[in-house]
Formats: sequence, C-alpha cells, structure tokens
Amino acid sequence: MQIVDIQITHHQLPLDPPFPASWDTQPRRRFPATIVRVRDNEGRTGVGSGDAMVGFADYASLFIGQDPRLLERHAAVLDNISFHAGRCWPLEIALWDLVGQIEGRPLWQKVGGRADRLQAYASLGTHRTPAETVALALQAVAAGFPAVKIRFGRPLLEDDLAVVAAVSGALAGRARLLVDCNQGWRMPWDTQKPWSDAQALEVAQELARHGVYWMEEPLHRADYAGMAKLRGATAVKIAGGEGTREIYEFYTLLERGCLDVYQPDVVWTGGMVQLRQLAFAVAEAGALFTPHTWGNGIGLLANLHLTAGTVGAPFLEFPWDPPFWTVARRDFMLMEPVEVDQAGWLTCSHAPGLGIVLDEEQLARTLSGRSTYQ
Ligand SMILES: [Mg+2]
Repeated sequence: MQIVDIQITHHQLPLDPPFPASWDTQPRRRFPATIVRVRDNEGRTGVGSGDAMVGFADYASLFIGQDPRLLERHAAVLDNISFHAGRCWPLEIALWDLVGQIEGRPLWQKVGGRADRLQAYASLGTHRTPAETVALALQAVAAGFPAVKIRFGRPLLEDDLAVVAAVSGALAGRARLLVDCNQGWRMPWDTQKPWSDAQALEVAQELARHGVYWMEEPLHRADYAGMAKLRGATAVKIAGGEGTREIYEFYTLLERGCLDVYQPDVVWTGGMVQLRQLAFAVAEAGALFTPHTWGNGIGLLANLHLTAGTVGAPFLEFPWDPPFWTVARRDFMLMEPVEVDQAGWLTCSHAPGLGIVLDEEQLARTLSGRSTYQ
C-alpha cells in the first residue's frame, strides 16, 4: 500500500457582511480554508484541513511512495518539517482519515474508542453589548448548549466586565460561563503587550466573584511562572495552550502546573499521534483536555474524534455566533455541516476515518491562490 499523491488547495469564502471577530482588529471579509487530500494506490482519499501548509511542497517527496499506515513515522517527519517550515499537521489528519478508511474504523475508535460523542459549548466570537450578549447566551441555552464562552478585548476592561456581570446573572444555574481573555493570541499587526500578572489576577478575582468556570489565556502563552501562580491564587480554572506550537511545551506546562484546562488544536499542533498521548497525560494529571476548534468543520471533527475517543471532556468548543458566525459559513466545504443535537451533543460518524464528504462544487467556486482573511 502506497501514498501516490498529496494535493493541497486554498479556498476563500467571501463574507458579506464581514465577520467582526473579537480577536482581530480587522473585520474578516473572507474565510480561508486549506484542504489537504492524500491518495493511496487503491483509490482512497484522506482529507485534512487546518494550517495553510506553508513550505510543504519542498517535503512532499518524503511521503510519496510510503505506506500510509506508518502513522508514527509520518508524525515524526511532520514534527521535523515544522522545525524547518510551517505547521503541516493537516496532512497528519488526512493520513489518519485515510488509514481509518483502510482499516474500516472511525477515528474515535482508532484513538481509543472511549465514546463517540461529547457535549459542545457555544463559543461566541464577537463583541456585543451586555443586553445583546445576554440574549445570545440565552439563545445558546435554548439550543441545548451546557456552556457559553464570551470574549474579552474591548477597549475598556470595565466594558468586558459589565458583560460578565450581565451574562453570569442570566445563565446562573442554567449553563456554565467561560471567558476567553485572548492574551496569548495576536494577529500579525497587533503589537500590544499581554496583561501583567497583577492585571490577570485582578480580572481572575472578578471572574471568580461571578462564578465563571474557566478563564482562558489570561497571560502570554510562555509565562509559565505567571500562569502557575495565578492558578494557585484563584478558584477560576485557568485554560490555555491554543497558540502553543511545540508538543514539549505542553509537557512543560503540565510539569509546572500551569493550567487546569489544556486546549491544543490537533490541526495546529502535534497531530493525532502526539496529542493522543498528551490527552492521556493531561487526564492522568487530573486536568481537562478540551481542544481549541475555532476553524472549520474538518478541524472540529478531528478534535471531536480525538477527545471523545480518548479521555472525554465536559464540553468541546463549537464556534457559534449567529448571524455573524454560522455553521453554514464555518463548514462551507462539507456536504453535511456539523451540528449539535437538541441537548447540545456532537456525535462522531461511525463511517471509517473522519466520516466526511467534501462539497466539491463549493470548493471549486471558492478556489483561491490565498489563504488569508482578506
Ligand atoms: Mg481561545
């Protein structure tokens, strides 16, 4: 059995009206997706998506002619490539999808088979007024979500805290409230510094007062000492790791007790081989493993299979902020968009691999030479 072809295409879905993402100072006019297809000599195709596969073309020959089932080997080569070029983990996801098809097994079974489903939390993506955010949070509860995540980053911290006060009151006893401070995240043009330890503690104390379940990215992702100290000083769970690039950094975070909630995204960091091991290590340490999934439906499903099949989680991120961010926009490349059921559950397909079918017509319409938001 051999890999005979790897195809990488870039796509951009026009966004009209634009999506005013809270973590981006520029409204997003396009939603990019890079689709990776890996084909074997028996006509099967595995699919992955996530990073833009920057610089991969120089290394494609390391995979052509290889047995697709050598997943540990492929993961090691991709780890080396990430040292020299971009993060090419979407190919690893495509290889797992392909091997799942070869073996006739869905990925949630292949990674461990613990469960085929997880509940999802509604992860909002825009800044709105307190009243508007309360209305949207209640809409999320009515849709079955057991938790809602809101975003900080307004010009005035007091405006962020006013939203926490309003939404925590409205959700009390009905759903958990999560707050993403996005201090470990920056767009290339954003040069402001993250919060200091003292600022993060002040916010954490305020969130604790409102019963917030987790505080996400309160500090720069490399501030290990600050995160460990903050975690010891507050009752709010500290979450992070979505922007952490190297797998060894997660083990440092674990050793130093930096986080209660680990959020690596399998299509950005580590792939299935490495994050499967990390998930068990996180669970062993008594912490939560619940990946970042703010991308498209392929990434969401890869993280769902990984988490449901290994250690489980109280809930998994589900990008949701209608009408600005909808399942139709997020999953434009899929024939069957990923939806939650009436009780907020996401269920993995029992078809082999990831169990997805690409919308080829939509992919042809959105084909682009760019993989950016503009
Ligand atoms: Mg986040």
